[in-house]
Amino acid sequence: MSNMRTSIKCNCGQRIIAKDVMQHGYYLRLFGPSFVYVKFRCSRCKKLGEQFIKQEEWEDGILKDKTIELSHDEKEQFSTQGAISINEVIDFHFELEQMSDLKSLEPLVPAKKQKSRSTPHS
Ligand SMILES: [Zn+2]
Repeated sequence: MSNMRTSIKCNCGQRIIAKDVMQHGYYLRLFGPSFVYVKFRCSRCKKLGEQFIKQEEWEDGILKDKTIELSHDEKEQFSTQGAISINEVIDFHFELEQMSDLKSLEPLVPAKKQKSRSTPHS
């Protein structure tokens, strides 16, 4: 198992992104791994190329121009939160003004980060 990010590259080394892709399909097999098929024209050398990628190695970001430095979990978390509204920004501002010391932030820390108190376990 490698954690290397999969990307599609032309023989010349140019990375292939969504706009270079001419054809894109699935190559399904009854047995063994299925493949994603991509036919592309390289934006640098203009040569045609094609590549099969194992379906389990295929990821949504594979043809994206930028690599996002977020883990999968973080991406999921942020995508469910929506955009930060102006009200949230204002609330945050007031919270900061009211903050007397860092202790007052403790109740806001997610439960999993809370240290176990010194109360003995029964
Ligand atoms: Zn090329």
